Amino acid sequence: MTTTARTGVGDPAEPGPRLLLGAPIAADIRSAVEADVVVFREMYGRAPGLAVVICGRDAPSLVYLERILKGCAQVGIDGRFVEIDGEATEESVTARIREQNDDPSVDGIIVQMPLPSGIRLRAVIDAIDPAKDIDGIHPLNAGLLRLGYDGFLPATAHAAVEILRRSDIPIAGRDAVVIGRSPVVGMPAAHLLVREDATVTVCHSKTHDLAGHVRRADIVVVAAGRPGLVTGEMLKPGAVVVDVGINVVNDRLVGDVDFESASRIASAITPVPGGVGPLTNALLLNHVMRAAHARAQASAGDDQP
Ligand code: NAD
Repeated sequence: MTTTARTGVGDPAEPGPRLLLGAPIAADIRSAVEADVVVFREMYGRAPGLAVVICGRDAPSLVYLERILKGCAQVGIDGRFVEIDGEATEESVTARIREQNDDPSVDGIIVQMPLPSGIRLRAVIDAIDPAKDIDGIHPLNAGLLRLGYDGFLPATAHAAVEILRRSDIPIAGRDAVVIGRSPVVGMPAAHLLVREDATVTVCHSKTHDLAGHVRRADIVVVAAGRPGLVTGEMLKPGAVVVDVGINVVNDRLVGDVDFESASRIASAITPVPGGVGPLTNALLLNHVMRAAHARAQASAGDDQP
């Protein structure tokens, strides 16, 4: 288990909160995956494979997806872009996904988001084989999480909770507030915190008195996409803050939390960049390995007389 050093913020004479850094935890996960890839290749004679289905190369999300492929290359996973031939339509995108479902060298599938207009998200999600849905967006995996079973978790929500677990932040019995109720970040993070025995309140854009809810929380997970939404004045002294937000303000990457004021009140906080983000990518690789092992074992079982 990785412990994150207590790191001063600003003036070194001022102790500041503990900085929860994603990079050291991500490095641990990546080296475990790298070792696992070696074992997998020996056992099954092939590399684990990840297909990233993309609808266009000019979208901003491509930078994020390229980073995932780079992470694959570093650990020996065969990661590749799968482009749509011709115009991206609901039919062409879902057909390409089905090809990946049928390809035995592909263990995990990610689809570039957001989808081009006119393509229904639900149609695309439904097309993914749940056994290859390593970012946990298929309704089957969402349902498994909701019921407390082990499906694939959305990587960002997983990272938001894993950074707490791996930093030895106690979760059980504590009051947690999750700001954001999206199906890919807020809601799965809330379910994961419930699974860790926290008492969880989910806040969203229609919540009255957000500050009142946040002030009661020992743990605050913010995933709203609103820079500066949470400030130090809203926090309970000693609260632990996980900032999932990624926003660009004046050409700078910032989270949803006003880091400066929150740092004066929180006992621990994730920086943006450098907190949840690096962990998200490493966990995706970990999910690919889980899918690869499960699929390889299932097909070995098929060969039994
Ligand atoms: P989303 O737009 O789908 O959902 C935002 C949620 O925030 C909604 O549920 C909305 O009700 C809530 N919200 C918006 N304004 C609010 C307000 N003023 N008060 C309270 N709640 C409010 O976004 P998402 O896909 O869930 O992403 C959330 C954030 O996380 C974004 O900044 C996104 O860029 C970031 N993100 C980070 C990673 C990562 O790896 N760190 C990955 C994915 C997304």
